[in-house]
Amino acid sequence: MAAGGERFMSFRLTPEQQALQEKARALAREHIAPKAAHWDRTEEYPWENVERLVEAGFMGMTIPREYGGPGHSLHDALLVVEEMAKVCGITGRIVVEGNMGAIGLLMRYGSEELKRRYAPWVLQGDKPAICISELEAGSDATAMQTTAVKQDGHWVLNGSKSWITGGGISRIHLIFARLSENGLEQGIGALLVEKDAPGLELGRRAHMMGLRGIPETELHFRDCHVPAENLVAMGFGKLMSGYNAQRVGAGTVALGVAQGAYELALDFARERRQFDRPIGEFQGLRWMLADMRVKLDAARLLLHRAAVDLHANGFPDRELAAIAKVYASETAIQISNDALQVYGARGYSRDFPLERMVRDARMFTIGGGTAQTLRNVIGDAILGSKVSQRREG
Ligand code: FAD
Repeated sequence: MAAGGERFMSFRLTPEQQALQEKARALAREHIAPKAAHWDRTEEYPWENVERLVEAGFMGMTIPREYGGPGHSLHDALLVVEEMAKVCGITGRIVVEGNMGAIGLLMRYGSEELKRRYAPWVLQGDKPAICISELEAGSDATAMQTTAVKQDGHWVLNGSKSWITGGGISRIHLIFARLSENGLEQGIGALLVEKDAPGLELGRRAHMMGLRGIPETELHFRDCHVPAENLVAMGFGKLMSGYNAQRVGAGTVALGVAQGAYELALDFARERRQFDRPIGEFQGLRWMLADMRVKLDAARLLLHRAAVDLHANGFPDRELAAIAKVYASETAIQISNDALQVYGARGYSRDFPLERMVRDARMFTIGGGTAQTLRNVIGDAILGSKVSQRREG
């Protein structure tokens, strides 16, 4: 049985968490929502939202106090992620990557010097990029071909990464690569590489369906020299354990988008009149909205369970994170689609937010481990076999 699966857990928020949630909600409503369509249309990175997030203390909020952060829990950060994603998916993703993924791995496994150097960058608004995928190594991440060879006090990186969220924007990159030293393979490790490191070149930006305000780019490494001390951690399994936090974060962006879509549909169902009555009185729509409510609650409970029931290393359980992300991501696709249906022609119109939300929600069964890969993880856990072989990207 996975950690905590058998325990009774209460998900009642503390007064401090309720205050945090309310603060995030107010920021999202007043400052993030009004320009969400703008970032989607222009595909520009929302730097002004980042400034707001920094002011509010939401970038690096999980960084411990001894490194200058406020030391919030993963659970706290998820509350903020959901509020941002309700109105603007990309802002939710920025909060995820400003608190989980690469920064989580750095703060857990990085050297004292690396933590002291880079934690302030995140607190000042950098969203670190986590760089695992390659064109020929997606779900099968351990097939990656990027290499780092140790030479004269440096790791020399060569290879290419694809679909990197924030490529060209992020100042910190955590690059997964096959390490070798003295001609001997050391396995997969993660190196911290700065944006302007010589030998790091920005490649093509992909044109994505949704979440358009953050670039997804290729990165190329040509004899990119990285100081030896920038090695954050070795071992794919260990690195992926930290990635479980990002999975729970990604699932929470999906949840937030779905919650936002549901709230729009609910208001519309109350106000829109056809056949001399609010459309929310028609049973077909009442049940649709009731189903949305049920699924949102279930997704949130699964995500919060994964976020509170952590392993000793401070990261979520792999199986619980996979369960939560599969459910939240698939549910978000259904709910945003149903919400668009409730909105009728307005839902399909680019003058209203739902078509953007449908496009945004579609991503989360792919990025950060596909729904199939995560089912392999769950299958391994329940059957004891090794289909996923801890290789999942
Ligand atoms: P493939 O692995 O080629 O899979 C294709 C299809 O086959 C999928 O449906 C998959 O589920 C299925 N499949 C593959 N293997 C199996 C199997 N064993 N059993 C059943 N079905 C299987 N990567 C990063 O490293 N950093 C990032 O910041 C990042 N950001 C991203 C942002 C976005 C918006 C997107 C869309 C992707 C991002 N990715 C990032 C890449 C993402 O992690 C990969 O897309 C993902 O791991 C899947 O890889 P793939 O796209 O190559 O699909």
